[in-house]
Amino acid sequence: MKIIMLGAPGAGKGTQAKKIAEKYQVPHISTGDIFRANIKNGTELGKKAKTFMDQGLLVPDELVVDLVVDRVAQDDCENGYVLDGFPRTIPQAESLDAALAKVGQKVDYAIDVDVPDENIVNRMSGRRACVGCGATYHIKYNPPKTEDVCDICGEKLILRDDDKPETVLKRLTVYHDQTQPLIDYYTKSGVLKQVDGTVDMEDVFQAIVKILGA
Ligand code: ADP
Ligand code: ADP
Ligand code: ZN
Repeated sequence: MKIIMLGAPGAGKGTQAKKIAEKYQVPHISTGDIFRANIKNGTELGKKAKTFMDQGLLVPDELVVDLVVDRVAQDDCENGYVLDGFPRTIPQAESLDAALAKVGQKVDYAIDVDVPDENIVNRMSGRRACVGCGATYHIKYNPPKTEDVCDICGEKLILRDDDKPETVLKRLTVYHDQTQPLIDYYTKSGVLKQVDGTVDMEDVFQAIVKILGA
């Protein structure tokens, strides 16, 4: 089961991808998490990616495509995976399709989590991310048991720099310009499924389970 999560920043891709990974026992691959781990570890890739991420821009395709193509070729991806935050451009989608086609595979589902722009800034300003394990919370919709402390690992929760309103607006523009065209792309290839992302997290997940099958 090879799944791609589509949707604006803050639509709930990560939240749903984690639930899918758990239920269907496939790896959750988040390119944002991979970049943040690289930044934390001070790698060359992390340094390069950070300059783009801080501005709300996409990291160039050449820094992300090989990384994902290599990742999905690993053994734990044999039964599928859920890609969260990739592809984000048409060239990324084409590269993924080409790499999969070489080994006789294809994307099975592209799930678009649909949330209007009006809701996004609110979602993002309330998002809190764990500095230890990357878990995400929302101060109102999914609060941790203790304020600013991760339920899972006990580390501190922060507001990501790129979740501040100025950067969120830039990211939304970038989303509409560069990522939204993927909805057409996957509609044409016949794998697009849309879910309403404005309802409760559990209800969004139930809609996804209906698509993927119990
Ligand atoms: P969100 O969860 O809000 O959608 P992510 O954690 O997926 O954000 O991504 C954070 C940032 O990392 C993006 O704004 C972008 O700069 C960079 N990034 C992540 N994935 C990609 C990708 N596939 N292509 C280019 N840049 C990416
Ligand atoms: P993305 O990966 O698309 O950027 P996230 O999964 O990180 O989005 O969700 C963005 C923020 O919105 C997080 O704080 C998350 O807890 C919250 N959130 C996710 N889904 C919902 C929902 N259905 N209703 C309300 N808040 C949500
Ligand atoms: Zn944590």
